[in-house]
Amino acid sequence: TPVIGVLALQGDVREHLVALAAAGAAARPVRRPEELDDVDGLVVPGGESTTISKLAVLFGLLAPLRARVRDGLPVYGTCAGMILLADKILDPRSGQETIGGIDMIVRRNAFGRQNESFESAVDVKGIEGDPVEGVFIRAPWVESVGAAVDVLAEHEGHIVAVRQGDVLATSFHPELTGDHRVHALFVDMVRAKQAPRSL
Ligand code: GLN
Repeated sequence: TPVIGVLALQGDVREHLVALAAAGAAARPVRRPEELDDVDGLVVPGGESTTISKLAVLFGLLAPLRARVRDGLPVYGTCAGMILLADKILDPRSGQETIGGIDMIVRRNAFGRQNESFESAVDVKGIEGDPVEGVFIRAPWVESVGAAVDVLAEHEGHIVAVRQGDVLATSFHPELTGDHRVHALFVDMVRAKQAPRSL
């Protein structure tokens, strides 16, 4: 069983722990650098990206997070988590750092005031069956991606799900819907990484 951590500094940690367990992982919160050493994969939850970024610096987690992602740790970020996995934020607040991992530029709170929160069916590449119920809460969108990035979903012409190698990110929050297919996709990514290589 893959052990998957949820970065537990701020945000909807509990919902991700439940969704990961339902998708077949052993899920646990990660707050300290030592706890990061023991996981096979990591979720960066939704919440407030500036707050998570500042707490990550304060808790001594930012450098270890960057190092593990660089070394190929599978990571999945939702909403604020997507922002944290972007190599670049279009309009960062002062002091806002990212972990990085996906060659993309994200726009925070992109869907704007009229639509700060909404739900919409989203077709996600790699997820069979019905579209995913996309819950968007002051969500970012992806403004542009590099050549290595696979676009998995769009909403009204804007990119809302991406994958680069073992790093996955969605603008929306599957952890709030009771549909665990996106988490199952991530658990599969972690399992694939764990599988012993055959010659
Ligand atoms: N707007 C938030 C941010 O910029 C993200 C919102 C969310 O995670 N639901 O961090």
